[in-house]
Amino acid sequence: MRTPFLAGNWKMYKTPTDTQAFFDAFLPLVAGATGRDAAICPPYIDLHVAIAAAAGSKVGIGAQNLAAGKEGAMTGEISGYMLKAIGCRYVIIGHSERRQYFGENEAGVLSKARAALEYGLAPIVCVGELLAERESGSTEAVLAAQFDGGIAPLAPEQFAKIVIAYEPVWAIGTGKVATPEQAADVHAFIRGRVAAKFGDAQAAATRILYGGSVKPDNVEGLMAKPDIDGALVGGASLDPNAFAAIVNF
Ligand code: PEP
Repeated sequence: MRTPFLAGNWKMYKTPTDTQAFFDAFLPLVAGATGRDAAICPPYIDLHVAIAAAAGSKVGIGAQNLAAGKEGAMTGEISGYMLKAIGCRYVIIGHSERRQYFGENEAGVLSKARAALEYGLAPIVCVGELLAERESGSTEAVLAAQFDGGIAPLAPEQFAKIVIAYEPVWAIGTGKVATPEQAADVHAFIRGRVAAKFGDAQAAATRILYGGSVKPDNVEGLMAKPDIDGALVGGASLDPNAFAAIVNF
């Protein structure tokens, strides 16, 4: 009942010209993909080109961040209202790089998720533990705190529209992928948390993606796990052939 979802996070890579070239190569490679959703989240400056290029395809476009609120004196910020107005469907919230370099915390994640939902964007909310937290045995406690603070306060009808991405920080951009078993254990834990707060039916419907060094050669093993509903892909999403192979897993 959960449609697999493969989403690319381009981070701070690619110009508008690069974006057009990516879609020219990528879209024909995924034109035959059925039974799955795909998205690309480029930098803000590439959104217009990406949205125009992907129009008429099944690839949705998302942003990597947003500011809470609609508009205002907020130099350098972009709101969900603006992202929706140009045709975005998704927005990544609480990526570990935002948490690490820009001080985002659970309260910020929650207010950004609410702002995204208010303007009709589907939030992809990221959670995940640091290496030291995994090694000290506190993975579940960290994820519980992230879920309880940043996600659980959403109203049930809001929660129904979000996607959760489990991204162990030690696996992001390191080439060190979590084993399918490690990821599946955490996904089951998160799904249990969803069930306790929002009920079994919602837990069965919520998509939980894995992120962290997903590549064409490891996506199959991850997607074979019943609790892993897709992937949030950084590095490999920059290459049209690699990301198409992931979408076509
Ligand atoms: C990410 O940026 O969300 C990510 C998972 O990156 P990578 O695939 O490069 O590890």
